[in-house]
Amino acid sequence: MKVHIDLDKCYRSGECYYNHPELFEMSDAGDPVLKAADLTDAAMRLHAEQAAEVCPAGAILVED
Ligand code: SF4
Repeated sequence: MKVHIDLDKCYRSGECYYNHPELFEMSDAGDPVLKAADLTDAAMRLHAEQAAEVCPAGAILVED
């Protein structure tokens, strides 16, 4: 599974890293970044899909 954050769309609202700190964190520049995580884990996949659903900008893409 791959998770991609489109920073051109991102509003920097912070839901992704507040709700899913196991997957995302804020960079020093204020951008959301994907943390190193086991993306083959089913629970992590569910969390990534949940983050993509609630992202107000539609900026998080989850691919197989
Ligand atoms: S939830 Fe979406 S819009 Fe908000 S910081 Fe994360 S990627 Fe950006």
